[in-house]
Amino acid sequence: MTTVTQAPNADRPAGTADLRGAIRREGRRLMDLWWQEMGAADAAGRPTAYVFVMGSLNEVLRCFDLTINFPEITALQTAVRGQSLTYLQAAEDDGYSPDICGYVKTDVGLHLRGRAHPHGTIPKPGLVVATNMCNTYIKWAEIWEQRYRCPVFVLDLPAWRGSGPGGAGGGIGEHDRRYVEAQLRDLIALCERVTGTRFDVDRLRETLAEANRMAAHYHDVLVLNQRRPAPFSALREGIVFQGIANLYRGSPEGTAFFDAARAEIEARTRRGEGALPHEQFRLLLSGTTCYASFKRFAELFEEWGAVFVHSTYLVFAGGGFGPGFGYDLARPIESLAEQLLASAWHGFSIPMFYAQDWLAETARAWAVDGICFHGVKSCRTTSTGLPDVREWLRTQHDIPGLFIQSDLVDPRLWSDAQLKNRVDAFLESLAARQLSARGGTP
Ligand code: SF4
Repeated sequence: MTTVTQAPNADRPAGTADLRGAIRREGRRLMDLWWQEMGAADAAGRPTAYVFVMGSLNEVLRCFDLTINFPEITALQTAVRGQSLTYLQAAEDDGYSPDICGYVKTDVGLHLRGRAHPHGTIPKPGLVVATNMCNTYIKWAEIWEQRYRCPVFVLDLPAWRGSGPGGAGGGIGEHDRRYVEAQLRDLIALCERVTGTRFDVDRLRETLAEANRMAAHYHDVLVLNQRRPAPFSALREGIVFQGIANLYRGSPEGTAFFDAARAEIEARTRRGEGALPHEQFRLLLSGTTCYASFKRFAELFEEWGAVFVHSTYLVFAGGGFGPGFGYDLARPIESLAEQLLASAWHGFSIPMFYAQDWLAETARAWAVDGICFHGVKSCRTTSTGLPDVREWLRTQHDIPGLFIQSDLVDPRLWSDAQLKNRVDAFLESLAARQLSARGGTP
């Protein structure tokens, strides 16, 4: 009989859920390759585009052979390496307030310290491409504009006009499509000026075709985690998936990675192999993990046999690959505009503003036992309203939820004893719930 007062996997050898096989090898190789390319661009003074994970426009930028830097990824990598505090403090010493987005401050610290990152040197921006998907993006882009005098392009994506995720009045209107398409043509002209390269629509078709293939594999990978036991951790392997989906979007390497990841995860499911040796609870993560305590965050749950099977982060920061994603190669720029709108709505507006519906549906399809809402103290964009959503799902859908807070990259905001207490109490209550469902008494 399951005890409800002890973490069942507390004595599990550390690292059992570490990444394995092709996902780990290829993920590392591609990440190293990206850093080598950034270093080479810095050394040669080649133009580099700074972009964001929500609407990177990688498909367009690849047509101009621009090296692409994702400052959110470089910031989180400093935290995973345990070195973010140095950069955060450099930014705060320069006058940035403690409550500003931790990614911004880490990045500012990197630039103040000569763009020297634990993985290599970050090249200067030759072009910045932002969207309005987070208001911080626009102010962040202005920091680089002022520091490097580089051109900044902000893509304005109209908000969802429906009354709900599938509500009346939704869908992509002709005016919205034309509005975004005109901006894409402006961006193409700007890229031509910055790089001196003529735009080739056939190259765009190639990158769109690769993004279509990658999106199909990405979707398959996520759906495979509906199996029991879950073959991968949406936290541990999820971070690799997000990284590669952004860095290699629209490239053959990115497509090959997700093809191999899908094959590896299918093989695990055939062998009945789970992310954890004994899966006890299936959880959904609303928000992000804490990269400054990345392993510890996962271990707090894994000690109890709790595996994260999905997360909102895999959707809104994973490239916006929603169900049915696909570019129409016969009308590439128009189709890119449509998919940007659809991705912004599916990948951002719906998980953000209609979180309760998306979470309820995902909890059902992925058969989760509970939801962990992780509030990020320096990110109001992803953290606003989480306790209300938790309460709604508990009362309307009988889905238990845990609300905890720390940060993305700031180790000063991680309180281990407090978080452990809350996670233990939540998982103990889930264990009691399971026991009661089986007719036992706690
Ligand atoms: S979404 Fe949050 S973490 Fe990301 S840039 Fe905006 S404020 Fe920062």
